[in-house]
Amino acid sequence: MSAALVWIPVALVVALAMELWAMLLHGRVWHSLLWRLHRSHHRKRRGALEANDALSVLHAPIAIAAILHGCTAAPSLLREIFFGVGIGMTLFGVAYLVVHDGLVHGRLPVQALARIPYFARVRDAHLVHHARGARGPYGLFLGPWELGWQTKQTKRTSS
Ligand SMILES: [Zn+2]
Ligand SMILES: [Zn+2]
Repeated sequence: MSAALVWIPVALVVALAMELWAMLLHGRVWHSLLWRLHRSHHRKRRGALEANDALSVLHAPIAIAAILHGCTAAPSLLREIFFGVGIGMTLFGVAYLVVHDGLVHGRLPVQALARIPYFARVRDAHLVHHARGARGPYGLFLGPWELGWQTKQTKRTSS
């Protein structure tokens, strides 16, 4: 069996799962336990970096280790799964960097992405999080749907 038939689907599933994991971390951990670091992202940045960047690179060592294991371990199904996990995490990390830090916060010259309606909606939903502070949407790529879901919840509880 071709190794790519294992690691490519694993990578895609992991990249999608990372959005849910990031949403959970952002809502439950960044805005409570690690607010001291995340706070820097909700204030005006002075300089090239912010303390919150430490949270953004938190998963990189795990992804690197998984890819290295996938490249160097003896051939096995598990090795391909590790490789897929590392690639999936990296895909999500790069996409998050480009869309969140680049498009939404202007740290990379990728504003042209906003011509794609989906990315414009993702940007607008994330800006709602910044405007509201401690409330969602906490996800990025699913932000527009999370926002819609929250609005429905609020209507239901207020009526
Ligand atoms: Zn936040
Ligand atoms: Zn942000």
